Amino acid sequence: MREDLERLLELQKIDVALAEATWEAEALPPRIAELEGQLTSADALVTEAEESMQQATKDRLRLEGDLRDQGAKLEDLKAKQLVIKTNEEYAALTHEIEFMRKTISETEDVVLKMLEDVDVKTAELEERKKAADGARGEVENQIAELKGELEKLREYVMVRNDERTRVAMHLDDKLLLRYERILSSKGDSAVVPLVDDVCTGCYKRLPPQAAIEVKRGNRLAECDSCGRILYRKESDEDE
Ligand SMILES: [Zn+2]
Repeated sequence: MREDLERLLELQKIDVALAEATWEAEALPPRIAELEGQLTSADALVTEAEESMQQATKDRLRLEGDLRDQGAKLEDLKAKQLVIKTNEEYAALTHEIEFMRKTISETEDVVLKMLEDVDVKTAELEERKKAADGARGEVENQIAELKGELEKLREYVMVRNDERTRVAMHLDDKLLLRYERILSSKGDSAVVPLVDDVCTGCYKRLPPQAAIEVKRGNRLAECDSCGRILYRKESDEDE
């Protein structure tokens, strides 16, 4: 009887430790995923800035091409003006040249803006790269630490599970089943001490006769209210 009780208590100790370790282990993968997500978002920000910078550079090059074409057209027009015959043609060309000069000046303004835009975007890219690289080391360390913790917990659970199997092997099947049913329905404990005739699982006072049964200890009595297996505390044994 006492032996069964000792084994049940040992089993319960293991089960509580297992539940705690399992609970701790389950909390880790979401934390790891969150940190990995941080790395991915930082990388995505860098990629976004890179693409934006490349696009700005492309736009700038295209506009510089436009500017060269416009310059060439202006030179053409000026050359034509030199060989012109009539006043009307001369006036028309002058008008065209003026228009081309205006266009060139406008394009130049846009190119200047584009240059500034490329500068801003280059700075933005550098900043994001720096932020991503700066955070990376620490986040990677945290991830490694959490993965190590998880590995340790998994090993611990394995060892404790082996231990549980060894202890459970020595228990009668019916008693083991009874214990497991109570533990899974109560969640916290299946075997609790009776203290001053009170069940320490549900804190209800036992009827006097039932309390005497527990104290005699010749069978594993259960609490009328919560169904947990009761035992008398060592300190009560000397009474
Ligand atoms: Zn109870």
